[in-house]
Amino acid sequence: MPKSNTGSDAYDPQTIEEKWRRRWEDRHTNSVDIHAADRPYYNLMMFPYPSAEGLHVGNVFAFIGSDIHGRFRRLQGWDVFEPIGFDAFGIHSENYALKVNTHPARLIPANIARFTEQLKRIGLMLDWDHEVRTTDPAYYKWTQWIFLQLFKGGHAVKKQAPVNWCPECKTVLANEQVEDGYCERHPGVRVHQRFLAQWFFTITKYAKRLLDSLQTLDWSESTRLMQANWIGRSEGAELVFETPAGTPIPVYTTRPDTVFGATYLVLAPEHHLVDEVTASEQRDAVGRYRRSAIQQDIVSRKVGDREKTGVFAGTYVRNPATGESVPIWIADYVLMEYGTGAIMAVPAHDERDYEFA
Ligand SMILES: [Zn+2]
Repeated sequence: MPKSNTGSDAYDPQTIEEKWRRRWEDRHTNSVDIHAADRPYYNLMMFPYPSAEGLHVGNVFAFIGSDIHGRFRRLQGWDVFEPIGFDAFGIHSENYALKVNTHPARLIPANIARFTEQLKRIGLMLDWDHEVRTTDPAYYKWTQWIFLQLFKGGHAVKKQAPVNWCPECKTVLANEQVEDGYCERHPGVRVHQRFLAQWFFTITKYAKRLLDSLQTLDWSESTRLMQANWIGRSEGAELVFETPAGTPIPVYTTRPDTVFGATYLVLAPEHHLVDEVTASEQRDAVGRYRRSAIQQDIVSRKVGDREKTGVFAGTYVRNPATGESVPIWIADYVLMEYGTGAIMAVPAHDERDYEFA
């Protein structure tokens, strides 16, 4: 006869897990004083967004992997601190609040209570004595403090920049949230481009140091490449071309030595000098081109293998090295966010310029 599973020796998760959860809580088993620890080990997993009624299976999948690592380290004798918190600001929480028509200030604490209950039931070795919530004024005053220090130090600046805009999310999207020109959350909705005043941290100043330090990290090649693309290029120079009317057009280039081969100048469609440099007979064509460029998201404009389009502005600038007149074009493969929004085109040296030419 098969052994019965209903006897008193059967495993009953409800009872057993409850017993151990209680014991961990009573003894603060997973609470660590990281400053006083002999062998401190910080095992951080990304905090969940409490933007739904409960955890999704992807959260659990990621947390368990991290928790296994933490437990392994603890068994090796480390004082493992496994922090937990809730990152409740931002678009995910806002959209969920709109969807269920409840104010975030009421909704978020209820969601956090549910998330907490679920996280505890999974049995992760999280330190609940040091829980943080990004929506807590005692927490975000430090976020604000950090911003103010950067601002005072001249590292936070406000300027106009093009952004990806989803009319359905009613907000700005990161490049990673745009898929083939559509919103990742609204597959039928085209992402547009908007020009908005935004805050920037001047990390470009530190690009070289950031790129150099990236080499010392024990990360996968694909992650390092992604980071390098975010940091961007660091070395370049600004050259000034001049219109016949004497208006200077600063141009950013990583190859100032190629200025002798510059055969035309290209402005981004959003460049503030486009109106000024457009000849009256080209005004209609340039206007049409700018309107169509603004309909596009920034990601598709960056895609390398896309066919290059552009329109002649009808005027010329002086090449500062040769003194020759070179035509001005408006083309959407030039982005305001990169350099000055104006480039000199050197078809012999740049693949993009060559294709366009
Ligand atoms: Zn959207």
